Amino acid sequence: MLPIPVAAIVDQKVHESRLDGFRDAQLPSMGEAWRRGLAALDQETRSKHGRRFHEIEASEQDDLLRAMEKGELTHSTWQGMPSKIFFKQRVADDIVRAYYMHPTAWNEIGWGGPASPRGYVRMDFDRRDPWEAAEATPGREVEALRENRRVGRGIFKEPHRPPDDPHTPRARYGHAPDVFRPGAWTPMREYSENEAVDFAIVGTGAGGGTLACKLSEAGFSVVAFDAGSYWRPLEDFASDEEEQSKLYWTDERIVDGENPLQLGANNSGKSVGGSTVHFAMVSLRFRPEWFKSRTLLGYGADWPLDWREMWSYYDEAEQALKIAGPVNYP
Ligand SMILES: Cc1cc2nc3c(=O)[nH]c(=O)nc-3n(C[C@H](O)[C@H](O)[C@H](O)COP(=O)(O)OP(=O)(O)OC[C@H]3O[C@@H](n4cnc5c(N)ncnc54)[C@H](O)[C@@H]3O)c2cc1C
Repeated sequence: MLPIPVAAIVDQKVHESRLDGFRDAQLPSMGEAWRRGLAALDQETRSKHGRRFHEIEASEQDDLLRAMEKGELTHSTWQGMPSKIFFKQRVADDIVRAYYMHPTAWNEIGWGGPASPRGYVRMDFDRRDPWEAAEATPGREVEALRENRRVGRGIFKEPHRPPDDPHTPRARYGHAPDVFRPGAWTPMREYSENEAVDFAIVGTGAGGGTLACKLSEAGFSVVAFDAGSYWRPLEDFASDEEEQSKLYWTDERIVDGENPLQLGANNSGKSVGGSTVHFAMVSLRFRPEWFKSRTLLGYGADWPLDWREMWSYYDEAEQALKIAGPVNYP
């Protein structure tokens, strides 16, 4: 298996200044944190072993990283930056992210890669889409290997050149990009500046987009505003974790406190369609007792809805999203 170039991936992230969308108030900016943290780690190694970090034994390196994780490294070269937070926010986060964005790591854990932006078409049990690798179950290894040589061939081989620019408004003149057919357009109702409408919705993600759709279907006039680009997911994205990052809202927002909230990736997409543009097709339901968590479990608050009522909405949402695949979440 090819090694995963973790250092190069992190280095490129720092070089391109691809931010996370938030920053712990106790850390300096990403590049400065890495520069200071690596220099301090080397200095800690020199003080303890008289050598540089890459020259010591792996077990000694592990010990130093464990001490960093616990916040026990306090040499003056840290310049007051808490080693514990550096470990949590930069070392663990950047490195694990770099490792698991790579297809080699997916192979290692037996994951076929993100469903987005292609989505599932073959919806029945035990059906595999052409881009999904066959599972090498015991006794079927050779067959799986043979099948998997074909997986992904012929589709998305050439990077598509977007036919138009995602960063200038694409939905104009009564047309919007058709996100299901490359290069195609779909009709879009437009209103003039002085025309009154029933609803104006800010943000077209899972919440706003669904609301706009339902209100329009019910016959209301709706205008939806979005701060992000109108992507054509099939053309503008490759199917890998790193590609998702151009969707994220990564302006730097300072977070603070004991357990600072992480913003930016995973739950925040700046785009028409919001985070759903690269939705990973994992659709989890609340357990029935969580709808009455205060009464039944002693924490949180009871929902005004009964779980049985919610179940029909889950069915509807899962059908609309075309959710398919295994019931168990790994
Ligand atoms: C890559 C990725 C994969 C995911 N996969 C899954 C999954 O498999 N399963 C799952 O359950 N969840 C998943 N999520 C999370 C899920 O998509 C989000 O929780 C959900 O979409 C949030 O819905 P929302 O309407 O609150 O916000 P969003 O969908 O993020 O929508 C917010 C919208 O508001 C717009 N906006 C914000 N501020 C303004 C402003 N001032 N003016 C105009 N527009 C504005 C943004 O551009 C965006 O379009 C994933 C998220 C990401 C990013």
